[in-house]
Amino acid sequence: MHNGAEMKYVQEAYDTEWVTTVGANIDELERQVSKYMGKRSVALASGTAAIHLAIKLAAEKVYQSSTGISTPNGKGYGGSMLGKRVFCSDLTFDATVNPIVYEGGEPIFIDSEYDTWNMDPEALKQAFKLYPDVKIVVLVHLYGTPAKIQEIRKICSEHKALLIEDAAESLGATVDGQPTGSFGDYGIISFNGNKIITGSMGGMLITPDEYSYNKAKKWSTQAREEALWYEHEELGYNYRMSNIVAGLIRGQWDFLETHIKSKRKIYKMYEEGLRDLPVSMNPMGIVGISNYWLSCGLIEANSMEPMVRNGRSAVYEIVDGKSCPTEILEALNIYNCEGRPIWKPMHEQPIYSGNSFVKKDGNGRAGSNAYIKMGGSVAVSSDLFNRGFCLPSDNKMKFEQQKVVIDIIHRCFR
Ligand SMILES: *Cc1c(COP(=O)(O)O)cnc(C)c1O
Repeated sequence: MHNGAEMKYVQEAYDTEWVTTVGANIDELERQVSKYMGKRSVALASGTAAIHLAIKLAAEKVYQSSTGISTPNGKGYGGSMLGKRVFCSDLTFDATVNPIVYEGGEPIFIDSEYDTWNMDPEALKQAFKLYPDVKIVVLVHLYGTPAKIQEIRKICSEHKALLIEDAAESLGATVDGQPTGSFGDYGIISFNGNKIITGSMGGMLITPDEYSYNKAKKWSTQAREEALWYEHEELGYNYRMSNIVAGLIRGQWDFLETHIKSKRKIYKMYEEGLRDLPVSMNPMGIVGISNYWLSCGLIEANSMEPMVRNGRSAVYEIVDGKSCPTEILEALNIYNCEGRPIWKPMHEQPIYSGNSFVKKDGNGRAGSNAYIKMGGSVAVSSDLFNRGFCLPSDNKMKFEQQKVVIDIIHRCFR
């Protein structure tokens, strides 16, 4: 959703010929986000890039505290994730996880809980019992709903583990008045095309100190040393935000609260419209205040039609008074409304089928399908994936359009 201020800043960038990764829009955006988060924040090309640099910074810090060897003047790159385990939310977009693997680390997935759909603090505790050596935890606030951040932060500090907060979907959501993204040792936000504030792309890393800010900025601009020529002592990346993209974001920044209000209105209308069906909405406001980024439905277990899916096809049996995510998504699609499945849990993804997964009862999977302990309940993340669906939630959606969506879902349950 655009507000009109975006083109002014983009035009300024053009007129003054600051179209590269330096310029007033980047400086101003960094200033505003840093003020909002209460921490120095670095403007980057994407949220994924921000997670990658957060992993690198955390790895370096873990290395420094375990060896006592610092990297003076920020020279050299001491941290290595090679073969190291990292705990990570199971129910998320794979951009949360992949940067762990970019650095050679091994993600271990932690199950969700029903209160927030996010990482279960109990499962995290179990994971620390199984893998007490883990020093980095990556936590997502899914669909704009804050995770049980205070509990998780406490567990992390008890185990002297660093916390990376993926607030890509939860920009503007708060817990105890503090913004998500600012609780962890490192936080990230995203300005990708579908996020609550967008510059078509872009992301930011929220850092704990001046050192991390400078380091991330340096790494993101090919790690150039101060020298007469291009001198390199470290591995660099082309991860800096463009001043054009920063102009778009800067133009939207002041409208964060407006966007949250319209997202909330959309959510409330679905909540009201689906009230008479055996469908609950994704939890908002259990912990802190959500940004209502995405509205989702969850079908009650005893109102689910039998459904079998693989990646390419799905079958289900039509039963009176019941439905299933596939039926709903297919019906929406016929009317050109875009719904989506819930994120497929990472432990079910073919690429991560060899990775460990831990549930709150301590059961799960240890590496390549060897189960830590057989039995136990279905994973919460898998259950949410099976029964849940994402509703069209764009800010531009009209009242009438949303009514059609609600009508279609009612018809699925007849
Ligand atoms: C969008 C998203 C990201 C990645 O952000 P990009 O800016 O697209 O790289 C990471 N995590 C989650 C949960 C996201 O939704």
